[in-house]
Amino acid sequence: MNAFTKIILKAGKESSVMRLHPWIFSGAIQKADGDLQEGDIVEVFSHDRQFLAMGHYQIGSIAVRIFTFQQVQPDADFWKLKIQNAFNLRESLKLANSGATNVYRLVHGEGDGMPGLIIDYYNGVIVIQAHSVGMYKLRHQIASVILELFRNNQVTIYDKSEGTLPFKANLGAKNEFLSGSTSIIDVVENGYHFRIDVTTGQKTGFYIDQRDNRLLLTRYAAGKSVLNMFCYTGGFSVYALGGGANLVHSVDSSAQAIELTEKNVALNGGNDDRHKAVQADAFAYMNAIGDAYDVIVLDPPAFAKHQDALNNALQGYKRLNAKAIEQIRSGGILFTFSCSQVVSKENFRKSVFAAAANTGRHVRILHQLTQPPDHPVSIYHPEGEYLKGLVLQVE
Ligand code: SAH
Repeated sequence: MNAFTKIILKAGKESSVMRLHPWIFSGAIQKADGDLQEGDIVEVFSHDRQFLAMGHYQIGSIAVRIFTFQQVQPDADFWKLKIQNAFNLRESLKLANSGATNVYRLVHGEGDGMPGLIIDYYNGVIVIQAHSVGMYKLRHQIASVILELFRNNQVTIYDKSEGTLPFKANLGAKNEFLSGSTSIIDVVENGYHFRIDVTTGQKTGFYIDQRDNRLLLTRYAAGKSVLNMFCYTGGFSVYALGGGANLVHSVDSSAQAIELTEKNVALNGGNDDRHKAVQADAFAYMNAIGDAYDVIVLDPPAFAKHQDALNNALQGYKRLNAKAIEQIRSGGILFTFSCSQVVSKENFRKSVFAAAANTGRHVRILHQLTQPPDHPVSIYHPEGEYLKGLVLQVE
């Protein structure tokens, strides 16, 4: 067995690990018994030398990301079993090997016992995104496991970690193909078609996490005028049109997003004259929508990436939602989201509450939404629940 550097925690700091929380903060560490390099595998012990866990070491406030609570050899077979388990879950969810959907998240970090690792599957094109140095160092090993797992199919593997690794680690990482070279791929989600470019798209190429919420929108779209604000690839727009909306306006500040939305609308039924895409800033556009819409979707980018931006983010959600609640038609339906990890469900709800209270309109919560089950949340790691949504009816 390889010897790994041992990290000893301060007295009392073992309790969160014993409750299976996968992070160790730097302040909990008493000492290490050797030299530590970023990305090293470490063994974690309590102050009285009880073994607790193994994980990847990183410089920063989260010092260790735990991938097992057992003393094991984390070799190729170890990672293979983990990824196989993750695949089995997606198969049981009818995502892997399903006809109606061939885009799903295969590995969701802590939710799959692999903190720092995201793997998304796009109809044979697989995108690996490492958020930790330890996982980045394992990328070739992970790629081999994936090739073995999908051995009956031709798959492309693209490593897209350049923008997600801690920049201070200075690894000089470049996005690159680890196998194959397909970057543009057509995928199907709930029977709807989308063209994805994994190399140029945001995140790993598509917002896979809105699959179930988009489907819910089809239930409210028939005969309605719909605004899809922050449309990006036009996911919600395509579903609203599919659900029988009278009119759909897709808005985004990015020209690339407008182009993608138009292409995706066209992929699902040709030139649909019920649809119009507009390049505009959300706050400017929302100032003057009047009573044009029965259904509004607000799916903004993460307003807060860090704790210190939290208050501004909450103000942003409040302003945006206030504009929608003020102007939406009577009986209107608002789908409103936050994907900021640092904004808790309670804080998001409070911002939307404050927005509603200012308008004086009667507002009811019809659905409380989150991410789909291929983005599982470890019950010991509630921070993993990053997507929050509310469907509101405004009288
Ligand atoms: N709803 C989309 C994902 C939205 S991602 C989906 O289902 O796929 C957030 C989008 O907000 C990005 O496309 C970004 O270009 C856009 N955006 C960011 N700031 C904006 C602003 N101030 N006004 C309008 N769009 C903005």
